[in-house]
Amino acid sequence: MPESAVRIALVFPALLGTYGDGGNASVLAQRLRWRGHDAEVIDVDVDAALPDQADIYVLGGGEDTAQTLAVSRLADGTLARAAAGGKPVFAVCAGFQILGETFLDGRGDVHAGLGLIDCRTDRLDGPRAVGELLVSSPMGLLTGYENHGGRTVLGASAAPLGHVDTGIGNGDRDVDGAMQGSVVATYLHGPALARNPALADHLLSKVVGELSPIDDREEDELRAERLAAVRKAKRSPWRRQWKPSART
Ligand code: GLN
Repeated sequence: MPESAVRIALVFPALLGTYGDGGNASVLAQRLRWRGHDAEVIDVDVDAALPDQADIYVLGGGEDTAQTLAVSRLADGTLARAAAGGKPVFAVCAGFQILGETFLDGRGDVHAGLGLIDCRTDRLDGPRAVGELLVSSPMGLLTGYENHGGRTVLGASAAPLGHVDTGIGNGDRDVDGAMQGSVVATYLHGPALARNPALADHLLSKVVGELSPIDDREEDELRAERLAAVRKAKRSPWRRQWKPSART
């Protein structure tokens, strides 16, 4: 366990902050503080070098051009060393895609990823995946929303984060996300860690060890409201407008 404050690096929020995933870093810090740990969120500017002294790295979603710029700034090996050293890396959507072997941009050009996850991303056959996403995982039922045109296929070294209950996930309504070593990736926005405290604690426990329970009544209320909304939408005669595959 770190003796000083736990440092959470929020990677390039100006590029990978389109979907509010910066909230994941705030959630990690706050859940530590509630338990009496010091925590610090480091907003890493795109012009700055990624710090190698952070304890957790968080990457969010973004547009195709932004993620292409982001991957070029992460190629110095710092993130790869952090992951190889067992530091948790949590990546969402564009963040997930750039940690893979390759990804396609909106024009169809292939870009090399960082190779931290054994996966490749091309484009969904159908329309963009937009809507609520529910994923059954070892950390329980995960709730969030998705908004992506990419389809990600996992290789043998990557395990899925979970199985899709509602939505599209990696692209075939079958699995979502990836887990490989200390890297956890998903298509869940929300921010995912605000909607899924168990996932946040899974990441934190890798840094500070066993975690004491905290009062999650507000988070549970949010989860119940979101899960009820998904169930209601599934029953609705207007279901078409809620379908994750519907064009927006
Ligand atoms: N640009 C990527 C895609 O559309 C990622 C989108 C996102 O991060 N939500 O697949």
